[in-house]
Amino acid sequence: MTTTLITGANKGIGHETARQLIAAGHTVYVGARDPERGSRAAEELGARFVLLDVTDDATVEAAAKAVEADGGLDVLINNAGIETRGEGNSVPTAETVTADQMRNTFETNVFGVVRVTHAFLPLLRRSAAPVVVNVSSGLASLTHLSDPDHAAHFYPGIAYPTSKTAVNMLTVQFAKAFPDMRINSVEPGFTRTDLNGNTGTQTVGQAAEIIVRMAQVAPDGPTGGFFDVNGPLPW
Ligand code: NDP
Repeated sequence: MTTTLITGANKGIGHETARQLIAAGHTVYVGARDPERGSRAAEELGARFVLLDVTDDATVEAAAKAVEADGGLDVLINNAGIETRGEGNSVPTAETVTADQMRNTFETNVFGVVRVTHAFLPLLRRSAAPVVVNVSSGLASLTHLSDPDHAAHFYPGIAYPTSKTAVNMLTVQFAKAFPDMRINSVEPGFTRTDLNGNTGTQTVGQAAEIIVRMAQVAPDGPTGGFFDVNGPLPW
């Protein structure tokens, strides 16, 4: 039996990933920062709920203790993420961004990944086939950004893409440090969720596909990579 924790799984792509992994036979923990929203989502999915705010050491440590007491963890999906918005709901640009907006974005998208991964590391190390999936973004790719024909080239924001580029670097460094684990980044694609005011072009079903695939990567499969549904992506 495979036990999987998904951070930020009370809605959006994380919620759908939980649904698909439960259908594939995983025991899933819905990690959520709000007890009511989280437990409601877990109940409707047939999952377990664990309170977890990725920006808060105390809840993350308590979550790791609770999951350990219940039997341990095989797969960690670092999905919780935010896209910080400024005045008029616009994304902060190179010209307008403040240090606080950068810090706020990195606190969830980057430091949250470090905090949660470290807290669950002892549990993952006891698994026969430990896996970590970091939900990144196509906007993280330096190659895409410098390609004038790619959508990433036109995205005006700066806080969100830099945070996801950092997630990709964390993925490589963690994969190098923990060779017995499969640790990969994924790009789910531009998806209709609250994160972008439901302007995305894909469904959550489509977005979850690559996360689910990399959550089930074989012990001799890739590690330290960056993937979308069509395969490896340029960094
Ligand atoms: P949503 O806004 O729909 O969901 C984000 C989830 O993260 C929510 O459950 C939210 O909880 C949770 N979350 C935010 N901050 C915290 C926190 N501090 N602690 C715990 N949970 C938190 O967005 P998506 O489903 O679109 O995003 C999921 C992931 O996919 C993110 O990492 C995002 O960057 C990535 N992504 C999304 C794309 C898209 O087009 N939608 C494209 C590429 C990547 P709450 O309900 O409490 O706010």
